[in-house]
This record gives sequence, structure tokens and C-alpha cells, in this order.
Amino acid sequence: MSDEKIMNSDIMISSESIQSRIKELGKQITEDYKGKKIVVIGVLTGAYVFCADLLREIKVPVELLEFVSVSSYGDSTESSGNVRMYLDLKRDIKDKHILIIEDIVDTGLTLHSLMEIFERRHPASIKLASLLHKPAKSKHKIDIDYLGFTIEDKFVYGYGLDLFGTARELPHIAIYNGEPKK
Ligand code: 5GP
Repeated sequence: MSDEKIMNSDIMISSESIQSRIKELGKQITEDYKGKKIVVIGVLTGAYVFCADLLREIKVPVELLEFVSVSSYGDSTESSGNVRMYLDLKRDIKDKHILIIEDIVDTGLTLHSLMEIFERRHPASIKLASLLHKPAKSKHKIDIDYLGFTIEDKFVYGYGLDLFGTARELPHIAIYNGEPKK
């Protein structure tokens, strides 16, 4: 990652702020799940960095880590309103304590659909951790149990989130100020 790339992006949330919030969330999750084992489900691709950092701050046993891949955006900056599941879980989650890790909740469509799918599989519990929440365009009310930051209605990238497929490796959250891509 070049210094130029970091300097040219408009920073919304610094790497330091993200890391310190993750430590707080990790503590809270550790406290809430004391004496239990959890199954962590990361939502690809955007949540992979948050998932890796958050998991290392959770001090209860993670019996299984899986990833699912869903898409509502394709290659645009606005939700298409359709959710497609490209990659499903390999294991059964019946009677397990599920923690879903997501990068951002925007309209809520992705999480609403995923929750419905997982609830039909009868886990013992389902909770959600999301790094970001953009409530302005909310279409489904989503209860985020562990939220990093609430943000304004801007398209953001970095720290796992992409800008048209690029820039996921940035250590901070940056704002895209260009034209919306349909
Ligand atoms: P929702 O279904 O809640 O509208 O959108 C959730 C998904 O849309 C996220 O997992 C993420 O992939 C994508 N998304 C929503 N807002 C943004 C954004 O500001 N930047 C990026 N890179 N992706 C976003």
C-alpha cells in the first residue's frame, strides 16, 4: 500500500479510532458470551478485515468460523434491492450461538435476508456485530448488538470495504466524493 494512496483519500474514521473501538467491542462480546462457545459468520467480502481484528479481541472460544458471500450492490454505489447468496455455510448451525460479523448496514436488506435464512436453521441465538451503520436509507429495522460507528449517508471505503473493487487494504475508512456509479 503506497503512502500516496493513504494521503489522497478523505479520512472519515482513522485506523486508531477503529482499533480502539474494536477493543471495546471485543471486551463487551467476551463479557456477554462468558461460559459459551460461539460460531462466527463473516460476511464477505467487506467484513474480512473487521472480522480478523475483532476475533482477536474476543476471548471466548470460537468453535467455528465460516464466511458467507451475498451481494446487493454488484459494482455500483447504490443497493440494487436484490440479495443473492453466492457462498453458503458448510456446517449446520442448529443450537449454536451465532455471531454475524458485517462491515456496514445500509438499507438493512442484506442483514434482513441473512437473518431470515439463518433463523430458519434454529440456532440457539443470533447476534450481529457491524463496524458501520448508515441509518439514512434504512428500509429494514436491524438490531445491531455490537456497533462500531454510526455514519452519515456517504459511500465509504477502506478497512475491508471496496471502492469499485479496490482500496480494501486501507487501514482507515475513507469517503468517496466522486459521482455515484449506477
Ligand atoms: P444493505 O443491504 O444494508 O443496503 O447493504 C449492505 C452491503 O452493502 C454491505 O455489506 C456492503 O457490502 C455494501 N455497502 C453499503 N454501503 C456501502 C458503502 O458506503 N461502501 C461500500 N464499499 N459498500 C457499502
